[in-house]
Amino acid sequence: MRPFHYARAEGANAAILSHQALRAPRDQPAVLAPAQYIAGGTNLVDLMRIDVMRPELVADINAMARSRAGKIEATAQGLWLGALVRMAEAADNAEVNRNYPMIAQALMLAASPQIRNMASLGGNVLQRTRCTYFRDTSYAACNKRNPGSGCAAIDGVNRRHAILGVSDQCIAQYSGDFAHALIALDATVSIEGPKGARALPFAELHRLPGETPHIETNLMPGELITGFLVPRLPWAKRSLYLKIRDRQSYEFALASAAVALDMEGETVRAARIALGGVSAAPWRARGAEQAITGQTLDDDTLTAVGETAFAEARPHGENAFKIELGQRTLARALRQAAQLEI
Ligand code: SF4
Repeated sequence: MRPFHYARAEGANAAILSHQALRAPRDQPAVLAPAQYIAGGTNLVDLMRIDVMRPELVADINAMARSRAGKIEATAQGLWLGALVRMAEAADNAEVNRNYPMIAQALMLAASPQIRNMASLGGNVLQRTRCTYFRDTSYAACNKRNPGSGCAAIDGVNRRHAILGVSDQCIAQYSGDFAHALIALDATVSIEGPKGARALPFAELHRLPGETPHIETNLMPGELITGFLVPRLPWAKRSLYLKIRDRQSYEFALASAAVALDMEGETVRAARIALGGVSAAPWRARGAEQAITGQTLDDDTLTAVGETAFAEARPHGENAFKIELGQRTLARALRQAAQLEI
């Protein structure tokens, strides 16, 4: 690992000031900035060890946990999840389990107990891809790590790569789970930075690769996430997160579905659907939500919903199987959600 400076910030303002001290260029993507924030460090330290991320300064923001950024609160507006809350704490929280089960399940299925105890919610949504070519610096061609160098995965080993939201520059999969629950439930993300505080729909936090796969989020240099607000949605009790993977623990999704259903008898009154393991960023399947609204969950409906959800899929080489796997995962998740007793 390369040498770096370490600073412990007492609060958001101090963290932002230490970040600014390095005068990151205004148009520089946050992940390439010479200063990085650290909370649990489960992704950043990993990437520093393999020389993919090379910050000059690591600003420790754990002291922010004494503020609202370290709390879980049930408010009149909805569920507040502070960015410094650890994954394990949120997954075990009674309010989360009772009223937003898809969030608890996504967090439980996301990582080993050791990592859930360390990793913060804010860091979790910003985790970077597991693309082998991105993580192995001996491969020269990776537009995400080295802009303009090409993409080794497009004609390479790409069984795990994305089929939704990809571009000719990058087909990397977004590997997280929790983020799909947040995008399904219309969460907003609270941000603080050099220009003050702002809130953003969670759906606008991540960017698709397009022509600039190295720019992964709409965070500006120096900005940090302080928390997430999940609006009150009484029928989010009827929700779940289904994750399909090669093995049942400590593994990333090949396909996943975060679904919430509002049912009137056998008929779907409204739905929230997000798809993981198949997408280049947290992925809301709005077309599928429309296709299922007003329908009963028979085989014909589920087939039509699956086809709609994956209509824009662009497989490459080894990952074409993800279309059918994703459709089956979504159908199973919807059936299971409809049968929940709430
Ligand atoms: Fe790099 Fe993206 Fe290609 Fe992977 S898929 S090699 S991250 S450009």
